[in-house]
Amino acid sequence: ERTPVALLGLGTMGTALARTWLAAGHPLTVWNRTAARAEALGGEGATVAGTAAEAVAASTLIVLCLLDDASIGDVLGESAADTGIDLTGRDVVNLTTSTPAQARARAEWARERGARYLDGGIMAVPPMVGVPQAGGYVFYSGSQDLFDRHRATLAVPLATTYVGEDTGFAALHDIALLSAMYGMLAGAAHAFALVRKENIDPATLAPLLADWLTVMAPSVHRTADQLRTGDYTTGVVSTLAMQVAGTPTFLDTAEQQGVSPELLAPYFDLMRRRLTEGGSADEDLTGVVDLLLR
Ligand code: NDP
Repeated sequence: ERTPVALLGLGTMGTALARTWLAAGHPLTVWNRTAARAEALGGEGATVAGTAAEAVAASTLIVLCLLDDASIGDVLGESAADTGIDLTGRDVVNLTTSTPAQARARAEWARERGARYLDGGIMAVPPMVGVPQAGGYVFYSGSQDLFDRHRATLAVPLATTYVGEDTGFAALHDIALLSAMYGMLAGAAHAFALVRKENIDPATLAPLLADWLTVMAPSVHRTADQLRTGDYTTGVVSTLAMQVAGTPTFLDTAEQQGVSPELLAPYFDLMRRRLTEGGSADEDLTGVVDLLLR
């Protein structure tokens, strides 16, 4: 007998999650603020709850996949008195993207209402849900006991990666990885802008970019080793001094191509500051991490 699941939130992501539980034979109850978005799932075998309270009453395991933290308060109430929805004895798994502080506050919110809580951060886009070879997964943090209890059910839509008892850690890992992704996308935007006015097909640049980013990505392992030992000169292949000396080449090229340096310049500023504020000429770019800490 498969564990019943109640899912609140049938946006693009929630709907994708829902289909995998149905396909795996889990009894599924769904609720969505806009009822029309639940209709198709009703036809596919889900029980459509008329209210959020009905959905919460339908199963012990309650999965939330709403827009943001505020929408959870809108649906379930910031306190039991707000909505009258009873979370007593429920296992709340929150897959809504939040900050670490919001996740920790939700754990407390659930505890006050007699529920257990696990936070999740989804590292996937909807087409990756239910497609293991696509490589998506969900970070989980909070009660290890709760994670273990529901691990098999939670693993149906996406692989699971448990990152610790601190409820905020799933969100922290999620945001850390996505922040790095935005840095990568910012670099790619600058690269495309550089060739935009030339007779270079963006489609010929794209595979070169993808391959280059892929071969450079493992350098994060060296950064981690350096941060752990505190010695930023170990294993250096391109020195800070050499890279700072190269920055005018990048800025001049941007200027010549009519491209704003606004995405690249802040990083170069930090590299230069590290060199002038006591960083060794022979070290890596790792000192930038320290400059970011306030
Ligand atoms: P959508 O915008 O498609 O859906 C948002 C959902 O939240 C809908 O069910 C919407 O209901 C509901 N909602 C929004 N505001 C409220 C409110 N005030 N009260 C009640 N319900 C509300 O978003 P996604 O499904 O794409 O995303 C859901 C979560 O998953 C987000 O936290 C997102 O960050 C996360 N996520 C999404 C990814 C993606 O690529 N899509 C990737 C990784 C994480 P209604 O239909 O009534 O508007």
